[in-house]
Amino acid sequence: MIAADRLSAANFNVTVYDQMPTVGRKFLMAGRGGLNLTHSEPLEILLARYGHATAHLADYIKTFDPDAVKTWCHELGEPTFIGSSGRVFPRSMKASPLLRAMLKRLQSQGVALKMRYTWQGWNDTAQLLFASPEGTHVEYPDATLLALGGASWPKLGATGAWTKMLEGQGVAIAPLRPANCGVLIQWTAYFSGHFAGQPLKNIALTVADQQSRGEAMITTTGLEGGVVYAQSAAVREACRHNSSTEISLDLRPDRTHAQLVTALDKRRKGASIATALRQTLALPPVAINLLREATGLHLPQDNYAMASLVKNIPLTCQGVASLDRAISTAGGVPFSECDAHLMLKRVPGAFIAGEMLDWEAPTGGYLLQATLATGVAAAAGIARYLK
Ligand SMILES: Cc1cc2nc3c(=O)[nH]c(=O)nc-3n(C[C@H](O)[C@H](O)[C@H](O)COP(=O)(O)OP(=O)(O)OC[C@H]3O[C@@H](n4cnc5c(N)ncnc54)[C@H](O)[C@@H]3O)c2cc1C
Repeated sequence: MIAADRLSAANFNVTVYDQMPTVGRKFLMAGRGGLNLTHSEPLEILLARYGHATAHLADYIKTFDPDAVKTWCHELGEPTFIGSSGRVFPRSMKASPLLRAMLKRLQSQGVALKMRYTWQGWNDTAQLLFASPEGTHVEYPDATLLALGGASWPKLGATGAWTKMLEGQGVAIAPLRPANCGVLIQWTAYFSGHFAGQPLKNIALTVADQQSRGEAMITTTGLEGGVVYAQSAAVREACRHNSSTEISLDLRPDRTHAQLVTALDKRRKGASIATALRQTLALPPVAINLLREATGLHLPQDNYAMASLVKNIPLTCQGVASLDRAISTAGGVPFSECDAHLMLKRVPGAFIAGEMLDWEAPTGGYLLQATLATGVAAAAGIARYLK
């Protein structure tokens, strides 16, 4: 849509096709969490968030950087603010006003929107083929932008079905994998039955020397939440090589081991260890039962060993949750399959933007930042190609 905006503003005739009844469903879903548009940290740090794709995305993001995202949002009538974590949000904390303003602008610039049109690839004469409510529809545009998303939350429209269409043109695709997703842990029936849906607040999660801080949620199949999403790529990659991997939780990351021992030493005479954990460390029942779960119900009785366990609960992950519930998608069209303007080398005139491209990043506004920046870059590429 941002590409449609840029191109229509430059007087190109643009039609947007989407297989859903309305556009921007995932964008609206992102708005439920406040719509974290980008991040205010220094650009070099922001760029490093894209890992292996940093070198490929850097120029696009420098051209449409976080300040440009803020200006774009402001111009659509939504001033932004920086949250305490440095994340940038529209002041309304919603996606719908921004989407409405965007649609209004596209309409005023003559962009046609065709809903319930499912792109099915190219036919033998290189025309775009759609299944539509009116039947099969073909188009032969001067240029095409494919911005079909990854494959997470497929009910919002991005199903990843495009991989087959592009592979049919000889485009190599990096397998689509879940990113920013939950991890799988085999809980006992008792623990998942009693504690699924309960949060573990202000914890630290360590995977292979990398630590993240935040909140996790117990699920029937493992753990979800910000602190888990931040480490899910590491768990995913570790589980690709081995069938499982160890992670470690610290339930009291703001206190040292020695401070926990001192607190536990103050436990009342005769108090059970569970009562001591509640009274001296203020651990909620879900946390105390997680300690039990991790030790096969054999909680350590001495305070030194208990403090060690609170700071380092070992858990075995069997993998990551499926793409269906992941926030984003890793894998996709490798940058090596595109030229510098994001045009497919094997399909001249067809450009790629957004999550279809092979990059991933943590949550924090980096997903929309790269999606918008590649949309702007592809629009510039199309304008250049058509001229
Ligand atoms: C719950 C949730 C919360 C999120 N919160 C944030 C956040 O706060 N900040 C952030 O930066 N990111 C967030 N994201 C991620 C962000 O929404 C995505 O990175 C972004 O929407 C990707 O944009 P896209 O245009 O590449 O793909 P999408 O937004 O998925 O759009 C792809 C479109 O292509 C259409 N389509 C797919 N295949 C076809 C076809 N064959 N024919 C026709 N149409 C087709 C789909 O219907 C869809 O409308 C969140 C994601 C989720 C799931």
